[in-house]
Amino acid sequence: MRVFISADIEGVSGVVDGSQTSEQGFDYGRARRLMTGEVNAAVEGALAAGATEVVVNDSHGSMRNILIEELNPEAKLITGAPKPLSMMEGIDGGFDAAFFIGYHSRAGTRGVLNHTISGRTVFGLTLNGRPYGECGINAAIAGRFGVPVALVAGDSTVAAEAQAILPGVRTVVVKEQRARVAARCLQPDKARRLIREAAGEALRVALARGEVKPLAVGTPAVFQISFHNTGMADMAELVPGAKRVDDMTLSFAHDDLIVAFKALRAMIYLAGVI
Ligand SMILES: [Zn+2]
Repeated sequence: MRVFISADIEGVSGVVDGSQTSEQGFDYGRARRLMTGEVNAAVEGALAAGATEVVVNDSHGSMRNILIEELNPEAKLITGAPKPLSMMEGIDGGFDAAFFIGYHSRAGTRGVLNHTISGRTVFGLTLNGRPYGECGINAAIAGRFGVPVALVAGDSTVAAEAQAILPGVRTVVVKEQRARVAARCLQPDKARRLIREAAGEALRVALARGEVKPLAVGTPAVFQISFHNTGMADMAELVPGAKRVDDMTLSFAHDDLIVAFKALRAMIYLAGVI
């Protein structure tokens, strides 16, 4: 059994602030250790449930956050950025399940450090008419490869977001938001124990009984994305095939979700120039 883990940092217990999530932040060193700890818990739960290969994709910012020297020796780590599938780099049809660890809620929902891909540029987006954040987009990419998402760990807001999109998914709530930059957090050892247990249950029960299914979003895949200002939308419109829907909003459609996703990323990068 092969398990793919995409790991972000904003949804890790104890992490609530930009001073922890940015490489320049004074508390970043502690946050990446906390992130590595939650990832290890998921790896251990997967191995205990019979996983024979666990691939971890570092999915935050520089994508060089996880401390490889502290990672479980049985896991393999994809580190560094940019990479073609970003938070889902390394996924393929040979994986049995995907886990999302340290995930956060989509832009505009009241979760800790909520944003979608780029907080500075993206106001919000939909995929085939449904508001999606990173959890939904990345689950759709896994689904495109026939891989179900069996476990999502993060705050209570992203857990609810995951439950609404992914029937049968196991979720671990490691913190409850009190504000966008404040939360009531579990002590890390407790968060890790819950993640370890849920990872095992996700494979032994949710996957084994077929309670989780690959997410199918339909064809074509249509992303509609709104930016924070019209200049960003002007830049995103440079992507061939992108259509201006209104002053701040563009859409991009393609039969292949992966092509549409790459166009989405190109639009967001271009918008970031402004
Ligand atoms: Zn992140």
